[in-house]
Amino acid sequence: MPPGAEMFTVNLYVGLASPFIGSAIAAGAARFASGAAWGLSPSSCPACGRRLGVLELIPVVSWVVQRGKCRGCAASIPRDYPLIELGAVGVAVWAWLTMPAHLFAATCVMGWLLLALSAIDIRTRRLPDVLTAALALSGLAMAAIVNQDRFIEHLLGAMAGYLVFVTIELVYQRLRGRDGLGRGDAKLLGGIGAWIGITGLPSCIFVAALSAIAWVVVTNMLRGRTIGGETSVAFGPFLAVGGWAVWVYGSLTF
Ligand SMILES: [Zn+2]
Repeated sequence: MPPGAEMFTVNLYVGLASPFIGSAIAAGAARFASGAAWGLSPSSCPACGRRLGVLELIPVVSWVVQRGKCRGCAASIPRDYPLIELGAVGVAVWAWLTMPAHLFAATCVMGWLLLALSAIDIRTRRLPDVLTAALALSGLAMAAIVNQDRFIEHLLGAMAGYLVFVTIELVYQRLRGRDGLGRGDAKLLGGIGAWIGITGLPSCIFVAALSAIAWVVVTNMLRGRTIGGETSVAFGPFLAVGGWAVWVYGSLTF
């Protein structure tokens, strides 16, 4: 089989796996939020403990068919599940439409890790080390395979992403006497830096900051509140948006 067709087959399977990977991300995020152990175990209803049947494991469709309720105990299943499943499919579709074939699978891996990190950060304000480390290592592996000539840029990106945020954090603590950003954000930006390289970091931070400000302004307007020093949002999802935008579309030119 010619390499092009082989790659298409691999990419097709990766794409078809996306809703199920979304289910795994949703279940993993829910387990992390509830403090349960990571790892694979048969899926069951968190409310009544009943094992889920094959039909109940079909992403999105099962949630819609069951109208968001468990068949055993009628406990409602959080909307996070179908949303994260759709998000994982969205990552694959976006990657398929924008990326060259040899980067499709890698782009999905990046997008799914960012999706998982964002989902967990929104719920718990934490970014698990295992996921930020996986993001950094997969980014460096990608660079070693497809971008050997500029591998150093990606390595520097990982280090600079981490150090920039640690520095901002220490300065902020000095000035305000309280924590602004968690160390998890630094590790996340390090992981993103491994993917986009040191030259992509300024654009990533710019997009992240701009989208965070826009989000805070719009949500506060909708709720009719004013913005004060106590306004705080999980910053991880915005860094994820910035990193994704720069990976898919390249750096901004000023
Ligand atoms: Zn149940």
